[in-house]
Amino acid sequence: MTERLYYDDCYQREFQARVVETADDGRRVYLDRTAFYPTSGGQPFDVGTIAGVAVREVVDEEDRIAHVLEAPVAAGEVAARIDWERRFDHMQQHTGQHLLSAVLIELFNIPTLSFHMGAVSSSIEVGAPQIDAARMERAEERCAEIVAEARPALISYEDSTAELGLRKASARSGTLRIVSIDRLDRSACGGTHVRSTAEIGPVLLRKIEKIRGNVRIEFVCGLRAIRRARQDFRTLSEISRLVSVPFDATPALVAAQVEKAKSLEKSSARLAAELAKREGAELYAATVADAAGVRRATERGAIADAMRARAQAFVAGSKAVFLAVSENPPSVLLAASGDSGVHAGDRVKAAVTAAGGRGGGNAGLAQGSVPDAKALEGVVRELGR
Ligand SMILES: [Zn+2]
Repeated sequence: MTERLYYDDCYQREFQARVVETADDGRRVYLDRTAFYPTSGGQPFDVGTIAGVAVREVVDEEDRIAHVLEAPVAAGEVAARIDWERRFDHMQQHTGQHLLSAVLIELFNIPTLSFHMGAVSSSIEVGAPQIDAARMERAEERCAEIVAEARPALISYEDSTAELGLRKASARSGTLRIVSIDRLDRSACGGTHVRSTAEIGPVLLRKIEKIRGNVRIEFVCGLRAIRRARQDFRTLSEISRLVSVPFDATPALVAAQVEKAKSLEKSSARLAAELAKREGAELYAATVADAAGVRRATERGAIADAMRARAQAFVAGSKAVFLAVSENPPSVLLAASGDSGVHAGDRVKAAVTAAGGRGGGNAGLAQGSVPDAKALEGVVRELGR
């Protein structure tokens, strides 16, 4: 059974231990005692070194803790050291979670259902269908008040049969490890925590999401909160600089700009359609009829709205056939006036099918695509006749 040094002292960064067993050619190491926290209860494992070798993962095997190392270590006494920056960050997030969960009970009687600590932010899922912004702000400020009061966070061991007054009943029996925040919270927890609420630092509540009929609250504590706030400031500064208004005026300005852009897009599309229509009509007027009295035009370019509008304007004239050819992707569009004697759908379908492609349409308008440029030129020759 591994002695868990972090149970009684979460601040121990270095320790001596004895390798009692190894597996996986010396890469999976069991010690008689360890300060390495294994992934458990929503908190990720610690990293660091054992006998100078990097620890890649720490696994809770109930009675024992397995340290997965980058390289093998020999049996015997070893000196070990945990990555304190990562551990302390986890302690801040984890104790911050106890604080936030307790505050949500204290203020609104909203229970916490689960906790997840991520590499960037942490989250709790709480038993409420929704939480409005005013309540979130109230909770955030209450956390700040309790942080400022520097309330002790203590570890004790108590029997599960006693009247423990826990925030959330524990499923375990026997001796429980209880983490208490003075006059606020008592939770059964095996994680690592700071010793005073002051050490949690800032607690910032961020994204609120509805999930499974509950609410998920994203939050950051300590140095993470400071770094996140700094990044927010940079992002907002950049937006503010780009739109040339002060921070607080950016949402209204950006909303107005988005509306303006939408309106310009609509107006630009309308003008493009109008232009295409005129071009089609002008092209019809400038095209000389063939021996059968039919005016034929072929244009190369993207087959999109403008090309379609041009084609339709061209065949709005009598005895007219318009062919559009796109190289990329290899495709064609054929438009024909009702009196041209050409059934666009039938012609396109026959031509592209023969060239290994597919397509079709009605008598007046049809489209088709073919596999490559060579097939395309064959189709163009066929449809040009
Ligand atoms: Zn905890």
